Amino acid sequence: MSAASQGLTLALSKGRIFEETLPLLRAAGIEVLEDPETSRKLILPTSREGVRVVLVRASDVPTYVQYGGADLGVAGRDVLHEQALAQGGSHGLYQPLDLKIARCRMSVATRADFDYAAAVKQGSRIRVATKYTEMARQHFADKGVHVDLIKLYGSMELAPLTGLADAIVDLVSTGGTLRANKLVEVEQIMDISSRLVVNQAALKLKRDTLRPLIDAFAKAVAA
Ligand code: ATP
Ligand code: MG
Repeated sequence: MSAASQGLTLALSKGRIFEETLPLLRAAGIEVLEDPETSRKLILPTSREGVRVVLVRASDVPTYVQYGGADLGVAGRDVLHEQALAQGGSHGLYQPLDLKIARCRMSVATRADFDYAAAVKQGSRIRVATKYTEMARQHFADKGVHVDLIKLYGSMELAPLTGLADAIVDLVSTGGTLRANKLVEVEQIMDISSRLVVNQAALKLKRDTLRPLIDAFAKAVAA
């Protein structure tokens, strides 16, 4: 089989990344032929022969692409940055494009009655619960704040409310979830959006198929 006729596997996570990638795929002339919300399939065919979508956990997208389980994927900057820090720098992923989808920010939030400014200024230890321990560690180290990190996998908002932690580091978009739980955003750490990630070997071996797709995405993002 020649490189040009080889298929392409695109790794996406269910939910907002999948939904917001659809218009970009459409702009490249590709329709996903099944809806992950109603289908239980993890491999979805598309209208372009040989191009398929695999559904993986958001934090597994870089792994699939890095090891060739997928040729390309869409991953949040949060996931990419956290994993790069954990691996001591970078992973062997080509990141040609900011897709500007699934936009949000990484922030610090506390209960309204917690004096974050004072805690930071006094150099006292603060307890921070987060899924993003590497990013949180780096953020507080840069500020010279002593931090005890508590790793959580979800429902971060609960941590300050139950006394598990003083603060959380988590993604915020509208702030609705924080407000609903009477938390306040006290510091913004980083703007987040999703990026295209491409397997290095695939980039060389499947260049003829990949390049036009990346170009079509770039055009759609700019439009
Ligand atoms: P799971 O829900 O399977 O535990 P997850 O919580 O990491 O995984 P999502 O909540 O779907 O998965 O988030 C996937 C990606 O979407 C994140 O990595 C981030 O880049 C982006 N994202 C998360 N929350 C928001 C948000 N509130 N607004 C915009 N984008 C977001
Ligand atoms: Mg989630």
